[in-house]
Amino acid sequence: MAEPKTDCTGCGRAILTRTAERNKGMCKPCFREAERFSAHLNSQAVYRDAGPSISGFRNAFIEFTEGVGTIFSNHAVCRDTAVRDEICGILQKTLLNGNTKLHAQASYATMDPAVDASIKKLLQGFLGKPIVHEFIQQHADELRIKLIGTMMTDRSVVSSSGEDLYELLGEWV
Ligand SMILES: [Zn+2]
Repeated sequence: MAEPKTDCTGCGRAILTRTAERNKGMCKPCFREAERFSAHLNSQAVYRDAGPSISGFRNAFIEFTEGVGTIFSNHAVCRDTAVRDEICGILQKTLLNGNTKLHAQASYATMDPAVDASIKKLLQGFLGKPIVHEFIQQHADELRIKLIGTMMTDRSVVSSSGEDLYELLGEWV
């Protein structure tokens, strides 16, 4: 019989339930990253106010940033265009303004349906994660904006190629 599985609270990938139990609900890479981040987390009052679930949210956000970086590097046409503004708009309405019902739109200004589809999939995947909903629902607007702003300025959310969402999307917070 197959071992029971569950979704990592950070990246959403299916993992063994016993791995999740050992790693506070996360897969090994997400857990390691959360541990690594925890010292920094404790040193910042704004992260302390948010509670421990902020680590999981941060992991999901890193994964999203990674995805934006990949799409932008494969399709240079997305950089510095209306596409970027459309993605910013969705992040602002959800993460900053607290709209949890907003869905990713079907098309972006890329002129390429395949690229549009990958942007949509990325946004849907990110906004559909329980940890992202929790982040939006559990914190007041003011704290959320402060948290996201801090994550941007202390560069806690950076893709593996070293780009953060300011470099990718412009100053959206
Ligand atoms: Zn994970």
